[in-house]
Amino acid sequence: MKAIVFLSVIFLMTGVRVVYPNSSNAADLIFTHGNIITMDEALPRAEAVAVKSGKIVYVGTSQKVMELAGEYSEVIDLQGLTMIPGIHDAHIHALEAGSEVGGNCWLEAKSLKGLKSQLLSCLKKQKGTDWLLAYGHHLETLLEEAEDPKGLLDSWVSDRPVAVMESTSHSIWVNSRALAAAGIKKNTKDPDGGIIMRYLDGANAGEPNGILLETAGEMVFDLALQPNPTAEAINYEGLQWVMDELPQYGITSIADARVYWKRGWLDVWKKAENNDDLTVRVNLGLWAYPNEEDESQIEFLKKQYRFNPERLMQINQIKIYSDGIIHNTTAALKQPYQLSLYGVPPTGLNYFDEQRLSTYIARLQPSGYDFHIHTIGDRGVHEALNAIEKNYLENPGHRHRLTHVEMIDNEDMPRFAKLNAIADMQVAGDFTLPENHHWQEPYLGERAFHSYRLKDLHDSGAHYVLSSDWTVNDLNPFVGIHNAVSRGRESISVQQALKAYTLGAAYVMRSETRTGSIQTGKEADLVVLDRDILSVPKKAIKESRVLLTLLSGVTTYRAEDFVLE
Ligand SMILES: [Zn+2]
Repeated sequence: MKAIVFLSVIFLMTGVRVVYPNSSNAADLIFTHGNIITMDEALPRAEAVAVKSGKIVYVGTSQKVMELAGEYSEVIDLQGLTMIPGIHDAHIHALEAGSEVGGNCWLEAKSLKGLKSQLLSCLKKQKGTDWLLAYGHHLETLLEEAEDPKGLLDSWVSDRPVAVMESTSHSIWVNSRALAAAGIKKNTKDPDGGIIMRYLDGANAGEPNGILLETAGEMVFDLALQPNPTAEAINYEGLQWVMDELPQYGITSIADARVYWKRGWLDVWKKAENNDDLTVRVNLGLWAYPNEEDESQIEFLKKQYRFNPERLMQINQIKIYSDGIIHNTTAALKQPYQLSLYGVPPTGLNYFDEQRLSTYIARLQPSGYDFHIHTIGDRGVHEALNAIEKNYLENPGHRHRLTHVEMIDNEDMPRFAKLNAIADMQVAGDFTLPENHHWQEPYLGERAFHSYRLKDLHDSGAHYVLSSDWTVNDLNPFVGIHNAVSRGRESISVQQALKAYTLGAAYVMRSETRTGSIQTGKEADLVVLDRDILSVPKKAIKESRVLLTLLSGVTTYRAEDFVLE
């Protein structure tokens, strides 16, 4: 039945170009007979939208909109299909997702034996680096099964440095050649925000064992990914692939959550902008390297700031880590973990402690930067809120946000609203659903069952947004919306989840007066869907299909079976 209806829609859309009297006010593009979810409180639903020169010039009824039809207007009868504002994904990792530097070699194997054969087959895929790089093992499995991680990797590959990044990206596993290249030895001290794991006993006691947590691993990856012309070309190609991918999910705005400028990534973004390759609006979050000297890093970052609403790309966010993650016991907790990893303090660690975080905010917010602060543990959240509080009076209009916010202590919950600190949560991964919180229990005990407090954030009056953290989670925002409304007592409504992906997220990107809702005067960033997500059963939300995506009235994606002319 559905298929038949759909086919008739296609049929009706064939040859819709109609000639109307000419008029200088005529719209370029008119949509009629739609189910338009505007996210504008004054007019939540409409039937018709008119677009001229990339902007929305009318929202209302199918009858009235035709007053704007002229000789060259394209009129599209939506036949009841749903239209929503363009999706804003406030936290993605574009180059991690798209770049093939290092072969983009993902290891799927569950056993060490399987890992070995996959890793060796990755040798052939390497490009843009002399290292062997791969991703996707699990630290717990590795530590359980390999007594000597470094020795094991040496026995597989010894003729070149090897670095394998854990699936969470918060630790890496290296061989002896990699440690030597990075100059990491027995007497090397742990860097800020990082742990060099070591052999506990035997002849090698105190020597690095091949596992580098958090910043210790980042430093090594930076070494393997130093900019070079081959890498730049591959990164650029990767970004083009991402630009093709995003509109397929109705995405029209993104915030890139970690631009590794030392790897040449900022240049790659600028090149994409100059070449008119961007298919979405972009806010770049420049990475604050924990191991950089503060003075020179702050001066460098200051110079990069750029905000101009006339352009698609803004360089106006700083990505900075307060703490790590729960898996590795590196998320900063108020009370100790139930179990401890050798070398990691019992309450986790900081990449940037409260004082240093506060200094960065104080020094960089006058330039216009908003901070995008990674916080997972309740202490990480608490300290980041403190740092924002210390700088609040100087800049009450800030758009600083805490991202992930997996654990929020009751006493900190009201502070988000009070300090105008935005909470950015990712729930597209099924591990975030309440019925799956058991994985955290060995680390957190009872606390495991009070995490991802989405509804509590909503009730606290906090400004919150939802994002993907792609490639950690699925890029598909409809999976995120489904999971936001399917979490028992922590559920929010579909309308609220959609707002967190549109108008709410536009606020984080300082574009809420230009995007995020379907309103006269705003950019025509519009998405046509195959279903009404506000009325279909919850389960059906994640199957939603995008049929058409427009950025300022220009088509950036059209489903093959959605024929307009
Ligand atoms: Zn992220």
